[in-house]
This record gives sequence, C-alpha cells and structure tokens, in this order.
Amino acid sequence: MISSLTAYVRQASGENFVRKERKVPFSGAKYDFTVVIHDLRGVGPEDQQPKVLIQRGDWSIRKQELARCAAFELLSTAFPANRIARPDTDVYKARIASYASQRENDISPMIIFLPETTEERSTFTKLIGPLVHDGEAKFAIRGAGCQPLPGCANIEGGITVDLSHLIGTTLDKATNIVQVAAGERWGAVYSTRCMTIAWVSLEGFICDNVINYETVLASDKIVNANAHENSDLFVSLRGGGNNLGVMTRFDLRTFKQSSFWGGAVSHFPPSFLSQIEALVDELKKPDASAETHVMISLSFAAQFGQVMGLNQAYYTQEVEKPAVLDRFTNMHPQVDQLNSMRMTKLKEAAEAQAKQVMTGVRCVYMNTTLKPDKSTLQAAADIFSVALDKVKLIEGMVFSFTLQPYPLSLLEQMAPAGGNVLGLGPVDGPLVSVLILMYWKNKNDDETAVSPPRGVIEEIDKAAAARGTNVPFKYLNYAFDLQDPIGSYGIKNQEKLHNASRKYDPEGLF
Ligand SMILES: Cc1cc2nc3c(=O)[nH]c(=O)nc-3n(C[C@H](O)[C@H](O)[C@H](O)COP(=O)(O)OP(=O)(O)OC[C@H]3O[C@@H](n4cnc5c(N)ncnc54)[C@H](O)[C@@H]3O)c2cc1C
Repeated sequence: MISSLTAYVRQASGENFVRKERKVPFSGAKYDFTVVIHDLRGVGPEDQQPKVLIQRGDWSIRKQELARCAAFELLSTAFPANRIARPDTDVYKARIASYASQRENDISPMIIFLPETTEERSTFTKLIGPLVHDGEAKFAIRGAGCQPLPGCANIEGGITVDLSHLIGTTLDKATNIVQVAAGERWGAVYSTRCMTIAWVSLEGFICDNVINYETVLASDKIVNANAHENSDLFVSLRGGGNNLGVMTRFDLRTFKQSSFWGGAVSHFPPSFLSQIEALVDELKKPDASAETHVMISLSFAAQFGQVMGLNQAYYTQEVEKPAVLDRFTNMHPQVDQLNSMRMTKLKEAAEAQAKQVMTGVRCVYMNTTLKPDKSTLQAAADIFSVALDKVKLIEGMVFSFTLQPYPLSLLEQMAPAGGNVLGLGPVDGPLVSVLILMYWKNKNDDETAVSPPRGVIEEIDKAAAARGTNVPFKYLNYAFDLQDPIGSYGIKNQEKLHNASRKYDPEGLF
C-alpha cells in the first residue's frame, strides 16, 4: 500500500521523468494528460525530486484535474473497479438520478465511491484524507439521498461516498437489538424483522434508540460509540449530523408493535382552524395519550389548482376507530375516496408513505419550532397562505405547510435513553415542528420558488416571538442552507460538539 503520495502532471507528449506512470482516461478532462502517482518514500533529497510541470491552461483547472486524477488513481489502485463510478458510466448516472431532489441531481461529483464494507470505507479515509487536508480533494457522504438540501449529500467536482452498497441487517434475538448497515433502507429492515424500530412517541426519537454507532473516524480508525465506549461521541452523534465521522452501522433497540389504526384524511381549508385547535388541545391535555400521532397539513398542488387539508393520524394500539382520533378524522366535508384510515402494520404503513414520495422534482424544505399555541399556529397558517399566492403559478408547484407535534411523551424519552445534543427536553414541551415544503418542475424557476418559503419561516418566527411562543430549535433533517440547526441546539450542546470534534477529528477532516 502506498502511504505517502504526491501527484505530478505533465502533457502526454512531454518529457517522461517519472518512475511510475499511468495514463488515466477520464472523460471530461480538458486535455489529455498523464497522471503520475509518485511514492516519495526512499526518494533522495528535496532538490532531486521531480518537479510539477505546468504547461498550459490556468492553474486552477489543472489543479482540479490533477486532484481528480490523483484521487482516481489512488482509489483504482486500492479497490476493485466496481467500487468507483465515473461520470461516463451507467452506475454513476443511476446513482445521481436517484436523489430525492432534482437539485441534488444537478450536482456532478468527479467520481462516486461505493464501498461495500466498513473496512473499505476506512481505507478510503486513509487514502483520500491527506489529499483533503492539502486542499486537493473534497468529499461528501451519501446515505439514501433523501434530504433535499443541495450539496448535503453530493459534491460538485469532489468524491461522493455513496453508502448504498453497505447493506445488511442482523437481529440478536436474545437482546432484540438489530444491527443495520448504513446503506440499508427502512423497507428492507422492516420486511426482514418482526420487531419494530422506534417511531412512536412512547419510545422517543429514532436517534434515542440507537444504542451503538459503528463509526469510521478521521484517523481511519473504526470505533464503536455507545454508553460505555466513546460515550461523548455517542451523545454527539445523536444530532451532530455528518460532522464527526462516517457511521457505517447503527445498532438499534427494537420493541414489539402490534397492528395499529391509522392513515390519512383529506379535507378542505375551512376545517383547518378546527384542526389546529384539536391538535393544541390534544398536546396540552394533562392525560395526553402517548399512543396518538397526528400530523396536520395544508397543501397546494398546481395539478389540482387548489389547497387541501391533509391529516395523517395514527393510534399505535390494535383499536379500531379510537375516540381520541375522532376530531382529526371525522370532520365534514372530507374527500371520502381519499380516506385511508384502517388497521395496518408498520411495514404496510411505511410502504404506503414511501409510495407518496415524489422523485425527479426540484425541492426545498425549511422548518421552525413553536409552542402549541392556537393563535400562533393560526398566524403561521395565514402567513403560509399569503406566500402561496406568490408561487402558485410556477409550473408543477406543490407548496405545503405541515404541523408535526413533539408531544411531552416523546421529549421525556431523551434523557433516560442517554441524552442527545438537540437541546430539547420535557421542560420545553410539548412543541410543534413547522415544515414548509415546496416542489416545482423547472430549474429556471429556482430563484422565484425559493425566496417565498424563506420569508414564511422568518415571518412565522417573528409572529411567534411577538406572542412569546417561539422556540430556537431548527430540525437538521428539514433545514435549508441559510438555517443554522446546530446553532439552535444551544451553547452547551455546541460546546459538546466542538469538544467531540477536537477529540475525534482534530484536523477537521469532516
Ligand atoms: C418524502 C420525504 C419525507 C421525509 N420525511 C421525513 C421525516 O418524517 N422525518 C425526518 O426526520 N426526515 C424526513 N425527510 C428528510 C430525510 O429523509 C431525512 O433527512 C433522512 O434522515 C435522510 O437520510 P438519508 O439516508 O437519505 O440521508 P442523505 O440525504 O443521504 O444525507 C443526509 C445528510 O446525512 C449525512 N449522512 C448520511 N449518511 C451518513 C452516514 N452514514 N454517516 C455520516 N453522515 C451521513 C449526509 O452527509 C448528509 O449531510 C423526508 C424526506 C423526504 C424526501
């Protein structure tokens, strides 16, 4: 294994001064050149080492191409050919096309690296880390590619590390802990296991149910982070995103989930105020049921030319038509054909949700968090409705406003599960997450489309501040690039993250 490398570039027809040379055919290169990876170990004094020849074009182009080829050379020497997808291949095109948002698809990495094992992911860090530190390469980490924020899981001109080939789930029947490789999808996990991963408020956020993260650190070391080993990393990974390492396996606790009652109900905007009232009443009830999960939305679709109300409501017990859901499911008028309330199983419910995912569309998510206050939530809905007028004529427009509660029963699970860095707890709750989501069709509408939702979030935060019902928390998974979710976790949690970063990634690779 070559451990210390410098890449030299010269024109193919130029003087050959190298010990080892390999021509890298790379479509998209501005001119034909040879890349030499030169092992410096054992080479004589500095002044006897070969020099970089710069012959034409500007340095930045050459440097980029040099880096591209150096990285490609390094990876192709170390890994089988099917781990590296170049832009002219079908694999590359298929992987790029599979992002949830077309705005992530627009980004063209120089290569996609597809590791199949944790060890391969670690070797990648060993090889590419030095190039990154020298500013000659950059990389992004991709899981399923569902987060719509452009550039969060893809990188222009860099290496996208796509974890989709890191698959497999194993259930330990004695402990009911399931190990899930980082490229696995929920559908596959649910279909092979009779147990359930936490998604209900009685069990906490998903991250609170991860009991161990297998992680590749910047040093290329593979470590476990759990309550007993690297516990500061463990807590920091629960909310720290991709800033501390690459998680290659998640070990999650599971619990039995019976069939349960749930689905969706479509209604008309005049009912929305009553839905806000029902939501706030349910969240604030002293005896609020931890089995109840309700998400209420207003959504405009250009295809139908009108705004509709959509409630998703679940009761996580095998009880048909539970009374606690009546206010969310029995409003009139509603679209009877779209009422999908039924007894279901988790796998079926997950599949039904997955079917609703739109692909091949341009997309933006933004969010804020509020106290459950009727006047604030109504003001927020009004702000959304005003902004809708500015975008409804954009081709393919879908614009929606969703209220997703964090009930007390959910927030109460965080500390007992070992804690996280989100900066939330029962003392803040209950809370309501506000998601503004927009889809549209054409790239040339990007600018017109993106600014109204940004204005909506700013105005909602102001309206809440005026009522004393604002909450700083911004959810990372729904964040837009101008939002600062980690900043919203509070100073103490930011300090925890900085400390973990200094300890586990001292040179700032991530
Ligand atoms: C239709 C739809 C519905 C959604 N519903 C929800 C929802 O209900 N709740 C919710 O929270 N989110 C939701 N999201 C947002 C999105 O699915 C989440 O953010 C999800 O967690 C992204 O996971 P992913 O594997 O697709 O990550 P990617 O989009 O691939 O990556 C997201 C970020 O995580 C980093 N990352 C990914 N894998 C790793 C890893 N193994 N190690 C280190 N860093 C990594 C990436 O670098 C990137 O910054 C939804 C998105 C869509 C399109």
